[in-house]
Amino acid sequence: MLKKIFGFLYQYISFRSLRARIFFMILLVGIIPSVLMRQGIVQNYEERAVEQRTQTVQAQLKIVADHLINEDYLNTPSSKVISAELDMLSNLYDGRVLIINGNFKIIKDTYGISEGKTIISEEVVKCFLGESVAKYDPENGYIEMTTPIVDDIMGESGNTAEGGGNGKSSGTGNVKGVMLTSMSNQYIVGTMEVLNRKAMLLEAIMIIIIVGIAFILSAILTRPFERVTKAINEVKAGYSNEPISVPDLAETEHIVEAFNQLLQRMKVLDDSRQEFVSNVSHELKTPLTSMKVLADSLLMQENAPAELYREFMEDIVSEIDRENRIITDLLALVKMDKTTSELNITAVDINELAELILKRLRPIARKQDVDVVFESMRPVVAEVDEVKMTLIMSNLVENAIKYNKEHGWVKVIVDADHQYFTFEVTDSGIGIPEESLTQIYERFYRVDKSHSREIGGTGLGLAISKNAVLAHRGFITVTSTEGEGTTFLVKIPLTYIAQ
Ligand code: ADP
Repeated sequence: MLKKIFGFLYQYISFRSLRARIFFMILLVGIIPSVLMRQGIVQNYEERAVEQRTQTVQAQLKIVADHLINEDYLNTPSSKVISAELDMLSNLYDGRVLIINGNFKIIKDTYGISEGKTIISEEVVKCFLGESVAKYDPENGYIEMTTPIVDDIMGESGNTAEGGGNGKSSGTGNVKGVMLTSMSNQYIVGTMEVLNRKAMLLEAIMIIIIVGIAFILSAILTRPFERVTKAINEVKAGYSNEPISVPDLAETEHIVEAFNQLLQRMKVLDDSRQEFVSNVSHELKTPLTSMKVLADSLLMQENAPAELYREFMEDIVSEIDRENRIITDLLALVKMDKTTSELNITAVDINELAELILKRLRPIARKQDVDVVFESMRPVVAEVDEVKMTLIMSNLVENAIKYNKEHGWVKVIVDADHQYFTFEVTDSGIGIPEESLTQIYERFYRVDKSHSREIGGTGLGLAISKNAVLAHRGFITVTSTEGEGTTFLVKIPLTYIAQ
């Protein structure tokens, strides 16, 4: 259980599972916009709030600036009304107002600290030049701004003369003084804190919801894959052998389709394996049964004559030979299946090899009164496995002799072009019926079982030959007319083509 949990967690951490990938993707797609949105909203609020506050205060300050001019406060800063107005303003905005006259002298400080001092800061100078500034210091939560105190009557004539601008940004002539105001921004900071807290709470709730959605969605989306795995595991465990069906995603359906095709192929292979095993058992049992019948009948006869013993023993020996041949052929076939890729390739003189095989088979042919002719069209040296090539050639020539008629003939021709060499065996034998032509390469297939058995056939020769030809990347074809004869043609590349 613990192992399972660790495995599950590992898959999530290592990012290997599709479920983990979907989970994290949904998480990213959901969380990133919500975080950005919160930050955007808070920042936007801050900018807007500072801007609005600055505008409101500026408007108020301008009104006060007009009063200052009207009361000539810059020259006679004794007006109680103006002082009260300035104090009220500084109280209202929780800030400090400094009035600076044309000599850069502070004539009024609502804090009462700096009166009489001179101030030549960049902002003040700029303001005298007509440029009013508002600066926000987010760290200390202060907005600092300068407001020009403009003599409007002179300013208007000045403006007209200069051809544009308003009192605030016009030339130096009408700026009589500067109001330097700094006000606390605690209100905005406080609101922002509340807003941020609320937005974060909302964000946390959203993240929880997104995690939940991601978890559920990733589970739903990967469920078909789990169902496919479960179905395949059931087949693997042997509970079922039927094609599986998990209709859901197109992707899983493709997997299921491919798996069912594989299952089908395995079934075919299994069937053919079973058929092969039962064929082998049957073929191996037949000579044993004959031997038992022969031995039993000898045992049952008391005082059987020596000639009968001899005759039966000869039959038993021939059955043993047959059993032996079947086993040898079977071993050759199994070996061929196993080692298709393990050919022992050497340069072989094909004419020489054919002559050697014919020399070995001629005595058998003579016994059956069959004439064997060899025709070599040109010298041929090819890269082949000599042992397998010998099997191919001797099987075909042996068959041509075995399935021949009395006074028949066998003709073997070796030829080549620039790419392939051919080995052709034609006989004047009994021929093969058309319907059997496609089956003769199957293991244990024989056109006439009893005849083939009589002449010592195992039904494996052509299966072995075909396997050997295919291992050389060659072809084998057959043409035959019943009662007239058969031609087998083998075509193999002169140069071995590796797999
Ligand atoms: P077998 O050991 O029985 O000869 P093969 O695999 O060599 O087995 O051949 C399969 C069957 O094909 C044979 O039983 C025979 O009926 C048929 N056959 C093969 N070669 C010839 C041939 N040259 N002429 C007629 N029939 C043939």
